Amino acid sequence: MPWKCFLIEPSPYCRLSLRRFTFSKETVGDTSIGFRTVEKSCPRGKDWGHDAFVVIANQVEAQNERSTLKGEFEGDPRWPARCVSCAYVFEERDQWQVNYDQLWKGSPDGKLYVLRESPPGAMWHAHWLEDATPNRYTGPDGKAWCLMMPGGVEWIVYGHSSIGEGKDRKEGPKWQVSGAPPNITAHPSIAIGKRYHGFVKGGVISADCEGRKFPAWPSTA
Ligand SMILES: [Zn+2]
Repeated sequence: MPWKCFLIEPSPYCRLSLRRFTFSKETVGDTSIGFRTVEKSCPRGKDWGHDAFVVIANQVEAQNERSTLKGEFEGDPRWPARCVSCAYVFEERDQWQVNYDQLWKGSPDGKLYVLRESPPGAMWHAHWLEDATPNRYTGPDGKAWCLMMPGGVEWIVYGHSSIGEGKDRKEGPKWQVSGAPPNITAHPSIAIGKRYHGFVKGGVISADCEGRKFPAWPSTA
């Protein structure tokens, strides 16, 4: 069940969504009554807050941006009322976010996607990684590249692997990568948590070598 790699690039469009969320721990109070930390974590996972978003326009001409103000959506009935993963009901003081997420073009199905929902095989130039830490993630062309893997996790092509788990986790060597994006070959295999383990060879992502299936994303190679 392999997937072919392909290049994507920003389109002139964004997806507009309204998001409510909490941080897993929040500080409440003021200088007169003092401050305390309250737990607002979600049962879906340790260190995760509650979260929900609703897409209100699939494609609008806009700049990629997020705002922590309600702005023109003050009082809009479409704001999510509850966490998507549990029964938590958002309070007024929880976080508000108006998101214009960049849509990317180049997928073989002709559709536009926000990065984190891109199909397996999508590969993009992540210039923000170059800006954040110059030279750390760059390849022979001087650019940082990411590849969307099955399971919805991105892999930094010229980044470092990691060794060990939890507190013992430390930085490992970089992969040996040959070829130019999107027709790359990487050695050794790529394991991303418990979500995917396989190979990238000649611009094709292999089926999971531990047998995981990804029914949402049919094979493309
Ligand atoms: Zn929740």
